[in-house]
Amino acid sequence: MTLVVATTNGHKLAEIARILDGLDCAVEPISAHASTPPPEETGRTFEENARLKALHYGRLVPHLTVADDSGLEIDDLDGEPGVRSARFGGPTYLEKFALIYERLRARAALGSPARFVCAVAVAERGDVVFEARGTIEGRIADRPAGDGGFGYDPIFFYPPYDSTLAEVSAERKAAVSHRGHAFRKLRAFLASRATPI
Ligand code: IMP
Repeated sequence: MTLVVATTNGHKLAEIARILDGLDCAVEPISAHASTPPPEETGRTFEENARLKALHYGRLVPHLTVADDSGLEIDDLDGEPGVRSARFGGPTYLEKFALIYERLRARAALGSPARFVCAVAVAERGDVVFEARGTIEGRIADRPAGDGGFGYDPIFFYPPYDSTLAEVSAERKAAVSHRGHAFRKLRAFLASRATPI
């Protein structure tokens, strides 16, 4: 069985490949199969965007195609940046962090509760055949810390680890992360499909 991963984000791909490691399934990036511009992420929810990406790329290949849509929801910013996480605030994460701290300061809400969300959708022959969601609850760190992970990890403080997600190893992040939770559900789905009846 081949699973095509529909992402151009190398960090995401590495995390996903690690979580699916050991399955009887070849995990291959979409770039190995097709080069096509990404679809516009017009969905209002992570789930809608995951579905539209899986269907968009799934049309191009004769394999199961998985897409994820993920992002950071900050409670005291009314869920922002949410589905706009990649586009929010400016091209660099320094700019995104600065805008988040500025807005939280304006609301006297530094340290706001926050969560990462990951929605996963798998397309096969034009249909969505599997969906899952994973989350991780934490809060916005007092200041950015750590240089591991990617994206908003340096400002996401995870109390059980007493650190940000950018301060822990890839293994420790995957054990508790939104993507880890969602893709372990996918792992179970793939394992059940691979089992001969
Ligand atoms: P997507 O590629 O449209 O799903 O955008 C996801 C965006 O959410 C990424 O570009 C990051 O900004 C953010 N994000 C998603 N997952 C993570 C994570 O595990 N750590 C940090 N930031 C993340």
